[in-house]
Amino acid sequence: KPAHQRELYGHPAGLYVLFFTEMWERFSYYGMRALFTLFLVAETSKQNGGFGWSNEEALALYGWYTMLVYVSSIPGGWVADRFLGQKKTVMVGGILLCIGHAILALDSETTFYVGCLFIIFGVGGLKPNISSMVGGLYKPKDERRDLGFYIYYMGINIGGFLAPIICGYVGEQINWHYGFGLAAIGMILGQVVYMWGQKYLVHVGNLIDRKDEKNREMLNRPLSSVEKDRIKVLLISFLLIILFWAAFEQAGGLMNLYAKQKTDRDFFGLFVVPASVFQSVNSFFIITLATVVGAFWLKWRKKGKESSSLFKIAVGMIIMALGFGFMSAASMQYESDGSSAMYWLILAYLFHTIGELCASPPSLSFITKLAPLKYASIIMGLYWAATGLGNKVAGLIGEVSQDWGEFEIFTGILVIWSLIGVLVIVCLKPLKRLTHGAEDGEGKVS
Ligand code: GLN
Repeated sequence: KPAHQRELYGHPAGLYVLFFTEMWERFSYYGMRALFTLFLVAETSKQNGGFGWSNEEALALYGWYTMLVYVSSIPGGWVADRFLGQKKTVMVGGILLCIGHAILALDSETTFYVGCLFIIFGVGGLKPNISSMVGGLYKPKDERRDLGFYIYYMGINIGGFLAPIICGYVGEQINWHYGFGLAAIGMILGQVVYMWGQKYLVHVGNLIDRKDEKNREMLNRPLSSVEKDRIKVLLISFLLIILFWAAFEQAGGLMNLYAKQKTDRDFFGLFVVPASVFQSVNSFFIITLATVVGAFWLKWRKKGKESSSLFKIAVGMIIMALGFGFMSAASMQYESDGSSAMYWLILAYLFHTIGELCASPPSLSFITKLAPLKYASIIMGLYWAATGLGNKVAGLIGEVSQDWGEFEIFTGILVIWSLIGVLVIVCLKPLKRLTHGAEDGEGKVS
């Protein structure tokens, strides 16, 4: 069999190329991100100094940067649809990322911003298109597609788990720019994997040849009413995506500070758990639970129960919201005892992770099932832009919590986000009608 038709552990071999490419890309991204604000607020000095910014200034740049990184998925998707195809756009994005991270390894203030710009456009080129390519590995109605996204999601989080520990340690303890440099090395490894693995990806992510008569007819005809409906339901799901991440992404801001300032992190009198360790808890749970949750939903569907992606997103929203109940409990304990226990945070992250696993891989899979071919990449770009907006809104919620009170915000998220999930379940029938059966009859496809 030619390389691209080969399978490994029941999935197309190309899945593993994308898995390791994205694992390293996320390693570089989360490694850099772990250092970003710490570096900006570190005092300036000749030897290994930061920029000496205030917390507010650093968080403001962080908010804009993490938003732009994902919003640039819109141009990234557009370039893929119109000019290069997904596979080549990932290649170009990867090169921009190698350059961007390498620039951050330099000890210079002016080049720092240039490095960030390269990273913004690099992620925009790579992230949405590599996600679309995962979907492209499976034929329509192939029941393995969702599980494929779960496997891929594990790769993301292996990178996300290791990076803050490794790059964070080297950057903080030894030298900021060595930390950024390690992120660059990770990205270069990812790029090498991707280039080496091209033979497994011959059939996915190619630009549709617009000169070909047959393709032209396909591409030039106006959207059918079915396709229009599907775009409508995708746009509605993007609204849910913004809301989901707006709550979930309290992790890096408000919950991070909560761990640092209000949690009793003493471990049986043996040592004090560093607050940053809690930033890896989510990825740890993803790595351990991704296949469990994936297999659960597969079994659930085989029993003939409701298993549309929208339903999973709604269930994920509710489980994630329930996680905030533990944060409410933590703030009550803090009010009465002056500090709160670590297990509240762990429980909150556990629920957040199960919620994420219900909502996030299926939503990626959903897009690859529903998006009309000619807009496939730009729609994936819009999805990532929605997560970017979610990140920004998360920051704003974090800010107002300082005025409104943390207990109020945690409890507010618990109530409002659960209700949103319930509302989606109530409206499931009309929403599903708009998909025109895109998810019906999924089964074994040889
Ligand atoms: N952790 C996931 C990733 O990096 C999802 C991030 C997000 O959508 N905010 O791909």
